[in-house]
Amino acid sequence: MHWRIPRSHPRYESLIVREMLVEAFMEGIVVPQGLIAHGRGEAFDYILGERSHPFALLAEEATVASMLLARRPVISVNGNYAALAAREIAELSRLTGALVEVNLFYRTEERVAKIARLLEREGARNVLGVECEKAQIEGLESPRGIVCREGIYAADFVLVAIEDGDRTQALRRAGKVVAAIDLNPFSRTAQTAHITIVDEARRATKNMVEIASKLKEADRGRLEEIVKNYDNRRVLAEAFKTMMMRLSEAAEKGIIIEVP
Ligand code: ATP
Repeated sequence: MHWRIPRSHPRYESLIVREMLVEAFMEGIVVPQGLIAHGRGEAFDYILGERSHPFALLAEEATVASMLLARRPVISVNGNYAALAAREIAELSRLTGALVEVNLFYRTEERVAKIARLLEREGARNVLGVECEKAQIEGLESPRGIVCREGIYAADFVLVAIEDGDRTQALRRAGKVVAAIDLNPFSRTAQTAHITIVDEARRATKNMVEIASKLKEADRGRLEEIVKNYDNRRVLAEAFKTMMMRLSEAAEKGIIIEVP
């Protein structure tokens, strides 16, 4: 920890998360570009009021139901996602039977190994990425397209978080159902995923752990119903509307934070 953040600080949670990312950066888990991406996410989260809205919970429920129904579900993990939610990712994988694979845009084998170790320390089993037969996702030049043959390559469902649009699109073109956690509903990732979770990655994964512990006992019919009734276009529209409403309210009032 570089400095002690007082618990009373009004933005304590957000500052703690920032510290977690800075530490992960020092350890070589997060790349500098990841810190920039986090800042972009924070800006959208500020507009959303830093909470999980009903449209996010709907997408989270559809993601968990899809994972439980999939034959080969995989959670794709990059540096930022691991730094923010390693324990929750491990728990979600345990509850849904999804494999965990480290998959990086800025890939070095050393960083893959570090992230896999972090995930395993937090309870994830058989993390893929280091020792696996490699395959290439079509449309992504190497090394950005390298995945594990028995992991993402063979998956029918992939959950990505804080991901770049090209990779999300390539996974979709490869025939996978893609769920994406992304605070920016304008991003190419948010716009191309089958299920878009407009929520902060750590909060979203915590929510999905809770949902999975309930849904794992549900019968297939109930899970299929959740997936069938899910409408991503509406969920994205609700995310934009919520942002717009919060912005219009602020635009009317001008001052929304009273000094105590
Ligand atoms: P795209 O390529 O999809 O159009 P981009 O160029 O912004 O988007 P990246 O910078 O690779 O792509 O993606 C990072 C995305 O993740 C951004 O949309 C950012 O808002 C989002 N993001 C950053 N931190 C978080 C977080 N903690 N939780 C959820 N989303 C986040």
